[in-house]
Amino acid sequence: MKLSSESERLFKRAVTMIPGGVNSPVRAFTAVGGVPRFMSRGAGPHLWDVDGNRYVDLIASWGPLILGHAHPDVLAAVADAARSGLSFGAPTPLELDLVDEVQRRVPPVEQLRLVNSGTEAAMSAVRLARGATGRAKVIKFAGHYHGHTDSLLAQAGSGIATLGTPSSAGVTEAQTAHTIVIPYNDPAAVRAAFAEHGADIACVITEAAPGNMGVVPPAPGFTATLRQLCDEHGALLISDEVMTGFRLSPGGWFGLEGIAPDLFVFGKVMAGGMPAAAFGGRAEVMAELAPVGSVYQAGTLSGNPVAVSAGLATLRAAHDGVYTTLDENAARLCRLIDAALTRHGVPHRIPTAGSMFSVFFTTDPVPDFAAARATQTWRYPPFFHALLANGVYAPPSPFESWFVNVAMTDEDFTTIEAALDHAARHAAEATPP
Ligand code: PMP
Repeated sequence: MKLSSESERLFKRAVTMIPGGVNSPVRAFTAVGGVPRFMSRGAGPHLWDVDGNRYVDLIASWGPLILGHAHPDVLAAVADAARSGLSFGAPTPLELDLVDEVQRRVPPVEQLRLVNSGTEAAMSAVRLARGATGRAKVIKFAGHYHGHTDSLLAQAGSGIATLGTPSSAGVTEAQTAHTIVIPYNDPAAVRAAFAEHGADIACVITEAAPGNMGVVPPAPGFTATLRQLCDEHGALLISDEVMTGFRLSPGGWFGLEGIAPDLFVFGKVMAGGMPAAAFGGRAEVMAELAPVGSVYQAGTLSGNPVAVSAGLATLRAAHDGVYTTLDENAARLCRLIDAALTRHGVPHRIPTAGSMFSVFFTTDPVPDFAAARATQTWRYPPFFHALLANGVYAPPSPFESWFVNVAMTDEDFTTIEAALDHAARHAAEATPP
């Protein structure tokens, strides 16, 4: 592998022009150090950086690319749509096709509204829940990430976990005053919050199967407890499936666990690598949205025909066999990681939620954010950099999920297996700070 001289040159320039040199914090390699690779091209399971190095991509643009990079059907759909114009600011038939596809996969979605990012979708779903219930308080879980909306940036996961900050500067106490943050997988804590604030709680928002503090799946019965407590207290349950939706099964985490929330939040796969996202659910609740109801929400580029086409082509290509392959690829990868870490005597756990998983350096269970943070995270940077140096692009933080795609081949697994041997050795040799 070539030294990343061009990436280094670009990064030096980028940091003078863009804060941290990146347009989303986790890309800066803050948790692992070193120079982020500037990418020039993707095809199938591979990414190439500007120095010409090829990587097996295990991030998939943070989730959207279940089919791999530059899938021909998706590219053709995007090109077709683009030829007819990039944006109209008016409804298009394509939007109905995408909503149809979502409803077919996730039947509790009676109505859907398209937006531009997961952040916007989660923010709008919470506003809708507040408007529909006439209540102010929101329960969220520590380590869950729902985008960078002010009221949800309290003890959030993802980049915020990486930076080690409990919340963001610039978020006022007033903005989080109605946000109740609770440890995940702790039914007693949720019960206590409802006992104290029940009549004021508009909604519980939860990552369907959390992937932003590493992967920490819901304990059996936990989501059902949330459903039950929301019903008992007249609160809405919002399931954030931005990461899990259309990836873990045709119907996302809902397709596996089967507990219907009142509102879903979607993003990533449903837009196939373009900027689109959505929120939706019970028609009665969605009827509160403008222009029918009095909860305002809007967007110049919402339902953008190029983004919608990419999502539709992705979902149409993602038949049941795709999900079997995603599961198989994830299981095969987990076996390789487990074998390498075991061989080198590195304490580890690889929690999974469908085909999402992450690697924690610990032998203890990891049911929540506190446990995730207590793992031996100092083993992760050398593990990550050995993978990178050997052609494998893994998440640059222990608090992120790994994402497989269906385009991976035996040759890619051979590359990964060889890289893992180096990575596990480096993780074994790491010393605490
Ligand atoms: N919710 C979840 C569960 C996410 O994982 C993310 C992004 N990783 C978001 C919301 C925010 O989505 P976006 O980055 O598109 O704003």
